[in-house]
Amino acid sequence: MKFSNLPLSKEMLHNLEEIGYKEMTPIQAEALPHILDGKDVIAQAKTGSGKTAAFGIGLLTKLQVKKFRVQSLILCPTRELADQVAKELRMLARATHNVKILTLCGGAAFGPQLGSLSHGAHIIVGTPGRILKHLKKATLSLEDLEMLVLDEADRMLDMGFSEEINEVLSFTKKRKQTLLFSATYTDEIMDISKNLQHEAVSVKTTSTE
Ligand code: ADP
Ligand code: MG
Repeated sequence: MKFSNLPLSKEMLHNLEEIGYKEMTPIQAEALPHILDGKDVIAQAKTGSGKTAAFGIGLLTKLQVKKFRVQSLILCPTRELADQVAKELRMLARATHNVKILTLCGGAAFGPQLGSLSHGAHIIVGTPGRILKHLKKATLSLEDLEMLVLDEADRMLDMGFSEEINEVLSFTKKRKQTLLFSATYTDEIMDISKNLQHEAVSVKTTSTE
């Protein structure tokens, strides 16, 4: 299935062509129509199957660039993964001018993050602990959050982040779109989905092509 079958902007389709994304990967073909439709989605797919673009194209399509507020938050288990996600998002956002993407991770100095936050952002990518620290200090506001992504949710649970994720959520409004990506569907993942998501559409893929 081709990206051009989806209701994407001309700029986005052109950019996908430029970066060499010709066909959707299976998880993108399964998940993107529901994401664009505004549904909560729980998705299972292997590493390397293109999950970042699945949620990335969705959130960039929904983003209101003129409204300079944090509209999307992506929680990742590690700084390394957050950096990878931010890199892919910046590539996908090349056609959408002036989109500001910021990473906020533990292990990085706090001071420079304050400086970056004071300039504002549309999309935040980060690890749960550091995001929570900024929320508690009110150096980050998620009042206008429209989309929350839990990337590698199973790994975040394994690393003991579930309490922090719940605390981060208490700073967001109830009505928002929540996407949950995981390599495995455990009971714990299904519990998180039940807690955080509303009538979630479940998509699974087995191949990585
Ligand atoms: P995952 O999060 O599922 O492990 P990634 O989102 O990191 O996988 O994607 C893996 C690789 O596939 C990345 O290098 C990404 O740029 C590439 N990729 C994603 N979607 C496509 C596509 N539709 N066509 C070609 N390459 C893609
Ligand atoms: Mg990934």
